[in-house]
Amino acid sequence: MNIKTDLPTIPFIDLAAQRRRLVGAVDTAIARVLNHGQFILGPEVRTLEAELAAFCGTKHAVTCASGTDALVLALRAREIGPGDAVICPSFTFCATAEVAALVGATPIFVDVDETTFNIDAKGIAGAVDVAKGLGLKPKAVVPVDLFGLAADHGAVAAAAQAEGLFILDDAAQGFGATFNNRRLGGFGHATATSFFPAKPLGCYGDGGAVMTDDADMADVMRSLRMHGHGSDRYDNVRIGLASRLDTIQAAILLEKLKIFPDEIVARDRVARRYAEGLSDVVTTPTVPAGMTSVWAQYTLRVSGGRRDALAAALKAEGIPTAIYYPIPLHLQQAYKHYPVGKGGVAVSARLAGEVISLPMHGYLDEPTQDRIIGAVRRALSR
Ligand SMILES: *Cc1c(COP(=O)(O)O)cnc(C)c1O
Repeated sequence: MNIKTDLPTIPFIDLAAQRRRLVGAVDTAIARVLNHGQFILGPEVRTLEAELAAFCGTKHAVTCASGTDALVLALRAREIGPGDAVICPSFTFCATAEVAALVGATPIFVDVDETTFNIDAKGIAGAVDVAKGLGLKPKAVVPVDLFGLAADHGAVAAAAQAEGLFILDDAAQGFGATFNNRRLGGFGHATATSFFPAKPLGCYGDGGAVMTDDADMADVMRSLRMHGHGSDRYDNVRIGLASRLDTIQAAILLEKLKIFPDEIVARDRVARRYAEGLSDVVTTPTVPAGMTSVWAQYTLRVSGGRRDALAAALKAEGIPTAIYYPIPLHLQQAYKHYPVGKGGVAVSARLAGEVISLPMHGYLDEPTQDRIIGAVRRALSR
């Protein structure tokens, strides 16, 4: 309960509603793993990898312990490391840039588009110039499908091709979204995703995967996730890591993947209702032609310094909000010494002060959503 109404506090993401829907199927799937006992790289992991690849329309999917590790595995498989530059947006979750630094490379920040919040491909050439000026080899670009919306993969591919860059799509938030009627997974050379519980397709712990059409790269990533093994498990041919998706999580994901297309439709319905109820009073998200979003977040833009007042007004009515992301990476302590591309990052800095995300999940019923819409409208008319 909250101070202004007798209504219950609304969850930001309602994992309990999904749990109620899946309770029998998931519990049976977990029990199956407990009984066969193959907890690491068991049969459910292999089945899930085949289903993820089929879902994305790619030849291979390699699962691992987290979305962050998925990005690391792809960079390591391409032998990106010290002396190399990896271009990524500043307005994203930290892991996008963190992985470049983790493999010893240098992240270079570029700006995002004002309306989609996704990488502005026009900044890529200017970041390549900065990298070369610093004596670094520009090797890769990591577009992010932020808040669930596919990045402009056509523009990214054109800019990357011109500069000979490897494209690693960070689809941790966008798994299931489409660009030109094709699901993410096949854009660029590899696509990483996360199964963190709050992502559109989440498990009940940590998990991740990399999709690719490149068989050699998939083989190297399978080796890397298991200490860099060769043809024999105890013959190590490279330095790797211990990064597997638990079989129990794979079993859970197989059940969740069955209802995922249905959940994507439900999320889109919620997003459409938000737009209908709010677009005349606040800047609601834009989905450009040729793209879809899986709505990892539903993010408004509130200018004029009114964002924090909106958050406080909603909180008083039992409606949670979140700020993704309050500080762009190029201003964060761990990242501020890394270079910025020639075009600057002004939009990223501005967005950090204006964005606010509303409750979003496929189980948000209409009365609850109407309560949120009404509260936002009241707060903004003050
Ligand atoms: C969540 C996320 C990651 C990392 O995923 P984990 O599974 O939490 O390691 C990477 N990039 C983006 C954009 C994310 O949102």
